[in-house]
Amino acid sequence: MPELPEVETVRRTLNQLIAGKRIERVTVNLPRILQKPDDPLLFAAELEGRTFQSVERRGKFLRLVLDGLVLVSHLRMEGRYGLYDKKEPQELHTHVIFHFTDGTELRYKDVRQFGTMHLFLPGEELQAPPLNKLGVEPLDERFTLDAFRRALGNRSTKIKPLLLNQEVVVGLGNIYVDEALHSAGIHPETPWNELKRKEQENLHAAIVETLSSAVEAGGSSIKSYVNGQGEMGLFQHSLKAYGRTGEPCRNCGTPIEKSVVGGRGTHVCPKCQKQPRTGNAANGSAARQPRRNAVKRRLDGEGL
Ligand SMILES: [Zn+2]
Repeated sequence: MPELPEVETVRRTLNQLIAGKRIERVTVNLPRILQKPDDPLLFAAELEGRTFQSVERRGKFLRLVLDGLVLVSHLRMEGRYGLYDKKEPQELHTHVIFHFTDGTELRYKDVRQFGTMHLFLPGEELQAPPLNKLGVEPLDERFTLDAFRRALGNRSTKIKPLLLNQEVVVGLGNIYVDEALHSAGIHPETPWNELKRKEQENLHAAIVETLSSAVEAGGSSIKSYVNGQGEMGLFQHSLKAYGRTGEPCRNCGTPIEKSVVGGRGTHVCPKCQKQPRTGNAANGSAARQPRRNAVKRRLDGEGL
């Protein structure tokens, strides 16, 4: 599933590809992608004749800004945009096509069909679902240590599920939460309100650093993607914890361990990220150990 850095890379690429292009007509092959309006004829009629001005992002949502309308698009698991010449054959799973006046087409493909599109008048998209409940934006310059601490408040929730909650901080998924916690040397089961101020500071810095370098890594690949099919997708990053079960920690050499925290596959260096010992957390996690293992077995096949 794309996380913030991948969506940001798609945003930048898409912005280069479609800004200034005018929509002649729209074809909808799979109406279920459309959430607002959900009528394909109405959706197409609203867009025809309009010009894409820029592509912005809010959390993992793309905001495709047109003259007088905003298209909010979420790629979910497998959504992909690509720019094609209209003569190129249409591939399987192409659900929505924006035909431009210059003979090119923006095609939305989605094998899993979980992606969504909403149309709004400019500004309204931020006041209504799905964008209105989103938390702070970690790559925004307003994401200071104080803003981060205000967003998380005095919650006693384990830090990993708290960071995954899009109503608190947007854009962090399973991969980059594991990466940021490893960088900060914090165990994912530590309750937020038990972190020392210095640890909060380290975590804030690790989130910004992890996401920024992933965006940079994606950004460096943009050119080759644009020169090819115009297809955008996921990028490989050099990961420190996520997906490295059994491999040596890049800091200390201890094998990375996998467990389940809040129902999600979680990767931890047992030496760099000490399990919390104080309060209910340690007792609770010891008591729940058998159940956690049962959950772990169930989830092992999911590739988290
Ligand atoms: Zn380590």
